[in-house]
Amino acid sequence: MPSHNLAYIKIDELEIIGYSIAGEETVVAIPQLDVCFDVGKAPDQIISINNILLSHGHMDHAAGFAYYLSQRNFCGLPAGTILAPPNLLGPMRVIIEAWSKLDGNKVPANLVGAKPGDEYQIKPNLFTRVFPTKHTNGSVGYSIIEKRKKIKPEYAKLTGPQIVELKKQGIQIDYPLEIPIVTYIGDTQYVDFSQLNYIAESKILIAECTFYEGEHCGRAEAGKHMHIDEFATLIEKLQNEHIIIAHTTQRTPMREIQRILKEALPPEKHQRTTLLMDRRNR
Ligand SMILES: [Zn+2]
Ligand SMILES: [Zn+2]
Repeated sequence: MPSHNLAYIKIDELEIIGYSIAGEETVVAIPQLDVCFDVGKAPDQIISINNILLSHGHMDHAAGFAYYLSQRNFCGLPAGTILAPPNLLGPMRVIIEAWSKLDGNKVPANLVGAKPGDEYQIKPNLFTRVFPTKHTNGSVGYSIIEKRKKIKPEYAKLTGPQIVELKKQGIQIDYPLEIPIVTYIGDTQYVDFSQLNYIAESKILIAECTFYEGEHCGRAEAGKHMHIDEFATLIEKLQNEHIIIAHTTQRTPMREIQRILKEALPPEKHQRTTLLMDRRNR
């Protein structure tokens, strides 16, 4: 029996599993890409994923990181890699050290600092790029980008031997192509993310939209979260094929969130939008 009843969304060949309620727990994993955005309370289903990308240090997003590392050790898996804003690494090491003493077993960990602009390789052709968000000191989001080499159009019709010949002559016949597959924004106030191409053109966007009711605007402001009005402005400028909303408040019932969402978004945006927590087996 798994520890969590996770939401499940399938987009083409990618499965997105997760749980995300504001203030309670946030963890969103894509096993095929070998990444998990935030770790929540470390549900069983994410332990085998090799890369945890932490957006910030709030307990509901980060609580399970030591358990994740320890469970991997227990199961004979190599140390998990956790990317996190550099200012979190010191306190995380203190926690790991304390747990090692409490538990009596060393907890192996590979901690990597993630600051805006950094890139980290996940698989041979797959990278994560870090960008800044406006939530806590050092908070970040992550895009997962596939890097390919594409043959230049003028050489597209050449035969194999002709290509070999050109390569021998040192002619560059291809160019680098970046395909942004998924972007996880994490917790943030409104920021015009359309200024970053790889976010605007990411096939899948996983974004927070915490508050929906008019009287909750102040709460969004105070907690540095997005209200539906700001979220609608944000996605208006983006071109994502699929939009997944995470981090919904428990203050508004899911039915009411669905209704407000439909009213707030233009139909062509609404039809490509999914509420993560609406996709659980109940
Ligand atoms: Zn949060
Ligand atoms: Zn937070």
